[in-house]
Amino acid sequence: MTKTIVNYILSAAALCTLTALAPAQVTAIRAGKLVDPDSGKVLTDQVIIIRDAKIEKVGKGIEIPAGATVVDLSRMTVLPGLIDCHTHLADGAHDGEPMGQFKKTAAQVALESVPNARVMLESGFTTVRDVGAYRALGDIALRDAINRGDIVGPRMFVAGAYVTISGGAGAATGLAPDIQLPWDLHYGEANSPWEARKVVRQLAHDGVDHIKVLSSGAVLTHGSNPKSQEFTPEELQAIVDEANHFGLRVEAHAHSPEGIKNAIRAGVASVEHATMIDDEGIALAKQHGTYLDMDIYDEECIQDGGRKGNVPKDFLEHDAQLGQIQRDNFRKAVNAGVKMSFGTDAGVCPYGTSGKQFAFMVKYGMTPMQAIQAATSSAADLLGHSSEIGSIKPGKFADIIAVSADPLADVSTLENVKFVMKDGKIYIQ
Ligand SMILES: [Zn+2]
Repeated sequence: MTKTIVNYILSAAALCTLTALAPAQVTAIRAGKLVDPDSGKVLTDQVIIIRDAKIEKVGKGIEIPAGATVVDLSRMTVLPGLIDCHTHLADGAHDGEPMGQFKKTAAQVALESVPNARVMLESGFTTVRDVGAYRALGDIALRDAINRGDIVGPRMFVAGAYVTISGGAGAATGLAPDIQLPWDLHYGEANSPWEARKVVRQLAHDGVDHIKVLSSGAVLTHGSNPKSQEFTPEELQAIVDEANHFGLRVEAHAHSPEGIKNAIRAGVASVEHATMIDDEGIALAKQHGTYLDMDIYDEECIQDGGRKGNVPKDFLEHDAQLGQIQRDNFRKAVNAGVKMSFGTDAGVCPYGTSGKQFAFMVKYGMTPMQAIQAATSSAADLLGHSSEIGSIKPGKFADIIAVSADPLADVSTLENVKFVMKDGKIYIQ
């Protein structure tokens, strides 16, 4: 046995002793209204008992244990912590221009990302599925720093890097071909099924939680065409198959109809953006149980940035008409009964403003409850973590938020979250 292992065992033993001695932290929340996305119902006058990081009991008339800290939210509506399934928290301070990444060290980007994580949590999003960073593996470091308690942020599930073709939607483009990029700016590039498998194997070894692939061109990438398809069906199948070997799910960025359908047929868990999805794509998503994670709010920020001159001209050309097409297709997919999750592409709009998408989801066809489910129970299902997050139930993590108005009457109240608890710890009150 090595010295390190012995030390580890000794410190683990010490930690167990400490845990046994330290009294559990018990909190009781009085919830005037409690939204249960699992049943689609709103319960009244509930008591939630939280022991350390987990929910112990929920119900009416539950006795509050002696010595518990009581939080009175009896005049508020309590919901499970929100989940944004499409964020880029580890990209540092966003200025709308990916080439800005070339002017910063990896350390600068990492430190600039610290406030991104904090505002995300403080705005009521207790979990994010972070779907890629320009500088590979920075998201893993951010996730781990949050989990250690070094910095404040949401529970993060991370992708590590973009799995992309050379010059593709997830590549660092816009430089002369004779400029050599550092390793972390092209870590996820692959150009055959076997190269793609190698990249997935490396990312799995690095400790990612899921795989992000790009199966069409992008709006916010230089030299890209969102109407194109990227990767062949066999490459996409190799990526999903290899990811499955490690128990990892795959999400695919796709705007073009063929890029969307190739990804669904390959077996991805969700299609991101799904902008130009056609009727066949909607039928395929339904048949395969694929989630659509459609960022229908961020168009506001792209166009607003364009008016202020902050968005590169070629990005605005890519984007022409796509915003409205995506919103119309969102409505079609909701009406067809496709599984929908909540993802905003946070970073395109300022971090901490993801809640603004709820009103747009309702405007384009969802009921307020469906929009809330997309960001709670459905998001947890997409992540494969329904037993831990997504609703306020015994045994799940105590990720709980509250708002002062009724979100089922006015869903935009979720833009203004008044109480945030994650892992049983209160961050906003
Ligand atoms: Zn994105």
